[in-house]
Amino acid sequence: MKVSEIYGILTFNEKVMKNKLSYEVYKRFKKTIKEGEPITKDVAECIAHALKEWAIENNCTHYTHWFHPLTGLTAEKHDAFLTFDENLMPIERFLADELIQGEPDASSFPSGGTRSTFEARGYTAWDPQSPCFIIEGKKTNTLCIPSVFLSYNGDSLDKKSILLKSIKVLEESTKKLLEVSEFPVPEKISITTGPEQEYYLLDKEVYRKREDLIITGRTLIGANSVKGQKLEDHYFGSIPDRVKYFMEDLELALYKLGVPAKTRHNEVAPCQFELAPIFEELNIAADHNHLVMIMLKKKAEEHGFSLLLHEKPFKGLNGSGKHNNWSIADNRGVNYLSPGKNKEEFLRFLVFFVGVINGVYNHQKFIRASVASAANDHRLGGNEAPPSIISVFVGSALGEVLENLKEGNFVEPKHSKTLEIGLSYLPQITRHNTDRNRTSPIAFTGNKFEFRAVGSSQPLGLPNTILNASVADSFNEISELIKEEKAKGKNREEAILIALSKVLKKCSKVIFNGNGYSKEWQIEAEKRGLANLKNTPESLKNSFADAEERKFLIDLGIMSERELNARLNIKYDQYSKIIDIESRMLVKLIKKYVRTAALKQIDMFSKFDFLNYSEYIKAVKTMEEKTGLLINETQNFEPMEGERKAFFAANTILPLMNELREIVDFLETETDKSIWPLPDYDSMLIL
Ligand code: ADP
Ligand code: MG
Repeated sequence: MKVSEIYGILTFNEKVMKNKLSYEVYKRFKKTIKEGEPITKDVAECIAHALKEWAIENNCTHYTHWFHPLTGLTAEKHDAFLTFDENLMPIERFLADELIQGEPDASSFPSGGTRSTFEARGYTAWDPQSPCFIIEGKKTNTLCIPSVFLSYNGDSLDKKSILLKSIKVLEESTKKLLEVSEFPVPEKISITTGPEQEYYLLDKEVYRKREDLIITGRTLIGANSVKGQKLEDHYFGSIPDRVKYFMEDLELALYKLGVPAKTRHNEVAPCQFELAPIFEELNIAADHNHLVMIMLKKKAEEHGFSLLLHEKPFKGLNGSGKHNNWSIADNRGVNYLSPGKNKEEFLRFLVFFVGVINGVYNHQKFIRASVASAANDHRLGGNEAPPSIISVFVGSALGEVLENLKEGNFVEPKHSKTLEIGLSYLPQITRHNTDRNRTSPIAFTGNKFEFRAVGSSQPLGLPNTILNASVADSFNEISELIKEEKAKGKNREEAILIALSKVLKKCSKVIFNGNGYSKEWQIEAEKRGLANLKNTPESLKNSFADAEERKFLIDLGIMSERELNARLNIKYDQYSKIIDIESRMLVKLIKKYVRTAALKQIDMFSKFDFLNYSEYIKAVKTMEEKTGLLINETQNFEPMEGERKAFFAANTILPLMNELREIVDFLETETDKSIWPLPDYDSMLIL
């Protein structure tokens, strides 16, 4: 099979556009896609017609605006093409207005208070830069139109609209920085992203026996598996046939949708896998990552698996992340985070490299908050994921360059001999990235930054919006500094170096090349004054809720006060709801399964008077007490709201749940397998 022949056949792609649109309309549509030129009504009319023709040829009966509300899922409202003409004859019709704008009932989507439920109007608006695609059904198919979702008064109610704004802002600040530092300014800047998607695969039958997995996405109880990932024999090991068939099917589906799936491999933990695409422009990559998550679930289901995107489904095993590889490029193919081939390119690289580091330093709290969720909290700060302290790994070679630059010395990296023979700096620099950088939340990996704190279930929208905005803000700061130095009469290179030195004196605190898992780093980070926001409520309070911290987003025009408040409210609320559901599920598991099993076990013990099982009995008693306590606390928790509720969840409910879990897990290890009613880790983590 030739993948190139099926690639993108379910998208309104280049070939289809050329076929279906008049040359004039095609050219204007391309201008919109490439340069963001607004679409006129007559052009939209032609595109709508062509889209409909193409969709019908491909067995579509319905279309839907496809958008990403603040819940983190994708949303759709399907409408039929079917309509009736003047003579009441059935025909298929699709108008420009229907393409451009949709009006789903917005009242059931979270708005965080930006809109009262009685004025339910919200609308979706077509994003012409992201290609329309077809989702196949059993008998008929549906045309999906990537869209933003706004309230009636124009507030953003989704993740795409703020992402698009942040991309625009970063493109502009990049151009400005190039201009003041006198590097060639390209026509078009692109933010590029390649998200590596991790996930767990379980057998569907086993999964069905775990109510906690079904309802909460993670195991709330469960003793560590005997083997776990101790042998580290799963990573890059051969993929079981059954899993391979699933992957083949998945990749085929993705190729048809024009999603460039590239790499598949086993991850470190048993039953954990990864899919990495070829990087694309951020807006498209974000939509494609949604499609990847949807197709992962769908195809797993078809192959008798259940697929977990939760950030920490199993205690004691690696969590799942979404390594967000990120860079800035232009239409000539220049990557601004590539160290380049000569001194001039290296200087340009440094401007951008330092620019990103400074952005991360300035807005570390918001960057932390952009990946905050109840699920990701179990991962960040756990013993294998990046810690909750936001730092940047740069490696030793570039670390040295930056140390010198801070003191005002422009020293090229070691091995600069390669410069004379025209080789890139790149090979030396990537070689210096030792594997210890796995512990860094943001690592420079040769020609891109890898934002690793992003969780496996999180859409790309918010983390990248915040990263883009942080970097744009920093680029603007550096541009101003360079301008000031030039105004003082410094030449261009001097001005750049002084500006970078000034910025580094402040931001180099965020650079850390050591082991992020270590206790020493926590202490060192505190000395450096870096934030260590351990859970979601704390990170929200110090970002979305903090007037000082959030000012840059308002100033850059990315989110208004109201939009920020809305997100804050929704995030507190979602966090509390998740902990609430988890704690109720834990109580249910104890009452329905664990207690009975424990009592049976005691009965069994009692038949053998030479056994000492007083520890066991003590544990059961403590479990009863703590369960009672947890039930009480969930009742206290119920009427609370907002910040207070979220903090109560984090500081009172969760610790109690953890204590209970420890007891239950002890009981599990001490109980006969035939009595224990739930599949254990060893039987779950095998395919
Ligand atoms: P590694 O496995 O060392 O992290 P890879 O080369 O496999 O590195 O890349 C991982 C991901 O990074 C892939 O999705 C890839 O497409 C993406 N990537 C590579 N270059 C860039 C870039 N310039 N901008 C954004 N993403 C990139
Ligand atoms: Mg990687």
